[in-house]
Amino acid sequence: MQQAADTVTYVGEWHSHPEGFAPLPSSSDVKQHFYVRDSLSQEGQPALMMIVSADSLGLYIGGLGKIVTFSEL
Ligand SMILES: [Zn+2]
Repeated sequence: MQQAADTVTYVGEWHSHPEGFAPLPSSSDVKQHFYVRDSLSQEGQPALMMIVSADSLGLYIGGLGKIVTFSEL
């Protein structure tokens, strides 16, 4: 566990959306992501939010984002 503590860094949050909903961030998702982004930027680190849906995922880094379908992976 100590080895992980020396090499693993918090980069952000992830969660899933229910089937039938796109992996687009809700208003509360955006607030959380910007909070994490502002906190991590003080340490010079990027912030990641990943939202998983039934057939795709959304990746958002520092306020910018992209949706990738699982067939593209
Ligand atoms: Zn969400």
